[in-house]
Amino acid sequence: MKLEACNVVVRFGGVVAVDDVSVALAPGRIVSVVGPNGSGKSTLFNAITGLVPMAQGEVRIDGRSLLDLPMNKRVRRGISRTFQTPRFDPDMTVRETVLCGYFPLRRTGLLAVCLQTSAARREAAEMHDRCDALLESFGLAAYARTPMSDLPIGQIRLVDVARAAAAQPQYLLLDEPAAGLTTAEQTMLSNEVRRVAASGVGVLLVEHNFELVCQLAEHLIVLERGRMLLEGTPDVVSADPFFRRAYLGVTEELEGAAA
Ligand code: ADP
Ligand code: MG
Repeated sequence: MKLEACNVVVRFGGVVAVDDVSVALAPGRIVSVVGPNGSGKSTLFNAITGLVPMAQGEVRIDGRSLLDLPMNKRVRRGISRTFQTPRFDPDMTVRETVLCGYFPLRRTGLLAVCLQTSAARREAAEMHDRCDALLESFGLAAYARTPMSDLPIGQIRLVDVARAAAAQPQYLLLDEPAAGLTTAEQTMLSNEVRRVAASGVGVLLVEHNFELVCQLAEHLIVLERGRMLLEGTPDVVSADPFFRRAYLGVTEELEGAAA
């Protein structure tokens, strides 16, 4: 069982935003995509989720291609994501926003919901219970009735991750979820990401905080200008001299001074 993106190419006019990138994600694993701004990380997510068309390549779950499926059907196949810039209705409360994450899973149809059949009521009660549990574990219970427009960015990101997790995905794609979070919020986020992965979900994580990446991910792929520069365990990647210079800004003189 796995999600595979193979030899993905995405072009915007003359710009090759993603150039022959491959990544595989198994259930329960955390893989991170790192690289400077503009290196194609979000575009790779957009290609996997069907938000942008691919010029070449393949995206498969358990060997079955997703390429013919639009974004909403890919959610039903088990892929859920957050956005680098979270999208939400500012007038909705935190609880309503997270509840939206459950909609793709709904079994009862619109008519049943309108008629308030017992199946529809049961399903709604189930969703509300699960939503409350999720708000609790993300430390958001106190904000359940707060309008999204009143939240600081850190909490907006946590709500977005909770909304994505609500869809009970097999594969969760997180695009810079820790940007703007306080240290306490980052710890909460890390714990939740670990918990979600431990429950069998594959997590693909784009994150600039390299320390956080190394704590969470067991495999890293490094992008530069759309191409795969290198991949490996956090140890292998962080020991790579080119990566250290280009990405961490570590120079040999600094290393010499530190030694
Ligand atoms: P990252 O997430 O690593 O910062 P992006 O995937 O956002 O990088 O961008 C990769 C490249 O693709 C950049 O050169 C960016 O300007 C370009 N790009 C991204 N989205 C679009 C778009 N919708 N139209 C045109 N160019 C885009
Ligand atoms: Mg991005």
